[in-house]
Amino acid sequence: MHDGIACGGKRRLGVMGGTFDPVHHGHLVAASEVAARFHLDEVVFVPTGQPWQKGHRSVSPAEDRYLMTVIATASNPQFSVSRIDIDRGGKTYTIDTLRDLRAENADADLFFITGADALAQILSWRDAEELFSLAHFIGVTRPGHPLADPGLPRGGVSLVEVPALAISSTDCRERVARGDPVWYLVPDGVVRYINKRALYRSPEEPMRAEG
Ligand code: ATP
Ligand code: MG
Repeated sequence: MHDGIACGGKRRLGVMGGTFDPVHHGHLVAASEVAARFHLDEVVFVPTGQPWQKGHRSVSPAEDRYLMTVIATASNPQFSVSRIDIDRGGKTYTIDTLRDLRAENADADLFFITGADALAQILSWRDAEELFSLAHFIGVTRPGHPLADPGLPRGGVSLVEVPALAISSTDCRERVARGDPVWYLVPDGVVRYINKRALYRSPEEPMRAEG
């Protein structure tokens, strides 16, 4: 037993879903810390499919977000990237991500890693009950977001404090648009990829209301 979870000798697979537009060191630290704390064999990063927009902004092409995630994780033998949400297409629902990963990894226990901001929404997600049956949920601290949520089901969620990094993709995009550096907020290869593809150059324009 560790962290309240029984070890059944099964492969332990962490799942880090996100838009990763761009992937940054906050994502990587969260995945690394949870992998160590929960003795995970692997963490698979799963960039979301291509929504027409996220909230009120357009999202970078899935292939760019996928490649940045590959660049950021390539040197870590415990990290991998999955295309399942990208290849399914359309808006990503976590229930589909977990169902597909479950089918592909019948031998593994799944641990879904999520920041405090996303965790707060879990209970409002569709199919919340099935979600908790497919994976153990791990909520990690994120500066600016309270971690504790009294409404979470017992046993289905672990709350973990990770070294706080006040980095967000939104801030990275805004920095690039302003001409400010993102060195050391994202991996070096990601800075170079952003420059090569001229991503985030123009300020985010509010788009039509969500459709
Ligand atoms: P955006 O600003 O575009 O929403 P983001 O920085 O929140 O981007 P996402 O791709 O939305 O990044 O997040 C993927 C997952 O990583 C979510 O569960 C989110 O809560 C978590 N996460 C993002 N940044 C951090 C951070 N600095 N520390 C801990 N968890 C984080
Ligand atoms: Mg986010």
